[in-house]
Amino acid sequence: MKVVKNVLEMQKIALKLKLSCKTIGLIPTMGALHEGHLSLLTRSTLENDVSIVSIFVNPAQFGPGEDYLKYPRPFKKDQNFCKKNNADYLFAPSVKDMYAESYLTYIKVEKLSEFYCGKFRPGHFRGVTTVVAKLFNISQPNNTYFGEKDFQQLAIIKKMVNDLNFPVNIISCPTIRETDGLAKSSRNVYLNHNERKDANKIHLILKKTANKIQTKQITFAAKAVKFMKISLLKIPKMSVQYAEICDPFTLCSMKKNIKLPARILFAGLLGKTRLIDNIEIRK
Ligand code: AMP
Repeated sequence: MKVVKNVLEMQKIALKLKLSCKTIGLIPTMGALHEGHLSLLTRSTLENDVSIVSIFVNPAQFGPGEDYLKYPRPFKKDQNFCKKNNADYLFAPSVKDMYAESYLTYIKVEKLSEFYCGKFRPGHFRGVTTVVAKLFNISQPNNTYFGEKDFQQLAIIKKMVNDLNFPVNIISCPTIRETDGLAKSSRNVYLNHNERKDANKIHLILKKTANKIQTKQITFAAKAVKFMKISLLKIPKMSVQYAEICDPFTLCSMKKNIKLPARILFAGLLGKTRLIDNIEIRK
């Protein structure tokens, strides 16, 4: 596995690979890699000639007062993880190389990036779409892999790719969870012992709500949301940012009768740690 830290070098390698008709799979990450990232990499190695994992803690997607500086950066460990799991390239550019002092260009997907997480993290998705577009131009992927764990992000990236005609397939991969149900996340290390013990309740509550909807015990969205919020607020130190039932394609929040398939989206703070999760409600 080759580690590439320079943007132009990565782009040259990618263009050469393309010229020799190799298919490229890209897995964009911020590092502190875990089994969630691994599921994306494994799928890429099965579906492409070459897999590139990018690790870049993207300052443009963090707001003031967020965890940009304290975000975990175990680079050596991540490097071994990528090597062991058959990545061909680890692309880890510096902030200076990605965003020169004179940098001015940003991409924003309107509307979709303004609600749910966008409301609580203004500018976050603008940072995400900008860096993802740059990574596409640098790595020239045929296929790129994103987790359903970040469901709104996935919808926004699909929209950007469609609207801007990027010649790339977006492959969505299911959320990988701890054995107790908590969605794996690089931010879970922020949870203290008691918070970690309680964190799995989020998934259990989302699952219970989905089940009540599927079995038609609840048919009204407002009632499902109320049930969810009351249950979530029983978790100590939990503050709910949003818990919504939405259309899985448009992400529009359902207010009256729930139409299936639907998706439950959640974000909240457990103590000081922001957690997100979502679950599918099938027909
Ligand atoms: P991050 O490093 O958190 O920016 O995530 C990089 C990619 O990995 C994104 O596409 C995430 O959605 C995906 N990802 C993160 N956690 C998980 C998980 N638990 N299961 C599946 N994919 C994940």
